Amino acid sequence: MINFNVPPYTGKEIEYMKQAVENQKICGDGPFTRKCSEYIEELTQTTKCLLTTSCTHATEMAAFLIDIKEGDEVILPSYTFVSTANAFVLRGARVVFVDIRPDTMNIDETLIEDAITERTKAIAPVHYAGVGCEMDTIMDIARRYNLAVVEDAAQCIMASYKGKALGTFGEFGCFSFHETKNLSMGEGGALLIRDVRDIEAAEILREKGTDRSRYFRGQVDKYRWQNYGSSYLPSDMNAAYLYAQLELAEEITQARLARWNQYMELLTPLAKEGKIELPYIPDHCTHNAHMFYIKTKDMEERSRLIEHLKKKDILAVFHYVPLHSAPAGMKYGRFHGKDKYTTKESERILRLPMFYKLTEDEVEYITGQIKEFYK
Ligand SMILES: *Cc1c(COP(=O)(O)O)cnc(C)c1O
Repeated sequence: MINFNVPPYTGKEIEYMKQAVENQKICGDGPFTRKCSEYIEELTQTTKCLLTTSCTHATEMAAFLIDIKEGDEVILPSYTFVSTANAFVLRGARVVFVDIRPDTMNIDETLIEDAITERTKAIAPVHYAGVGCEMDTIMDIARRYNLAVVEDAAQCIMASYKGKALGTFGEFGCFSFHETKNLSMGEGGALLIRDVRDIEAAEILREKGTDRSRYFRGQVDKYRWQNYGSSYLPSDMNAAYLYAQLELAEEITQARLARWNQYMELLTPLAKEGKIELPYIPDHCTHNAHMFYIKTKDMEERSRLIEHLKKKDILAVFHYVPLHSAPAGMKYGRFHGKDKYTTKESERILRLPMFYKLTEDEVEYITGQIKEFYK
């Protein structure tokens, strides 16, 4: 059976976790958490990285930090994971969905401006499959209308737009290190902070509303309750697991890219015959092979292909029932403009197995079975 995902494992994780235990520092913000944060800051060239318990939590933190309030509106795609919307809905905002581009499955940047009202507070672009949204356009709109930008960069470690790391454009960027992502710590994430002036508020929010971070740095002699807050810091054991993967981030990414390129090469003939569609990567985007997907003619054909692959011991999956058509989406949001592509494209997309240790032979077998199906 070829699984759809196998969580990345490099071999050093256990050794580092053992070290974390021996350090007698298994709570948050220990040595491995610091190492991971510094590594990510260096890698992305961002001002500050705070490790969190998930990307969901990082996005919730961002919603607090840009001061989302009851009645505010946030613009995002409907084709995304629920967490992008939940973070703002939890603060009482309405989510305003706009259509996606069929080529990258990212928010259509040309439709954002029309969805802005006097209540709009933020834009939350999602870089689907580690392929950047049109950040030049989005940042320009944000500047002209004075809107905050929170990037859902859950799938984006090691990916960039015009040479700049995804997650570093907006005020805040949110990474995920869930076991389904390119690098993992089981459950976990990171909040990337662009502006120095946001760091202190973020640290306080993350540390139960206290200035314990300043206390640990020796900047104050006792820590006190400063503001509302919660607990968003992961155990140092989980950070130790992640650190082993960060050290091999380049190797993991290259291994995935090799399989991604192989899929592309072997499936191009089918695409040329018009049987399927393949992903598109704009020239100015460097992706991280988070995902390899194809698009079938329609939902019915997709179901038959999934069945065919299952019989051949291959697990292929689809995702994202568009949020605007889900019960909570109808309650907390609205779709602005026409749903030209969101529903249609979401019904055609099929994700093929993609993980660190996927082999060349496996990709050959999988693509062979897809060709067999279309014969
Ligand atoms: C995985 C994912 C999330 C959630 O990440 P967690 O770390 O599990 O909270 C959010 N948005 C997108 C686009 C994702 O792919």
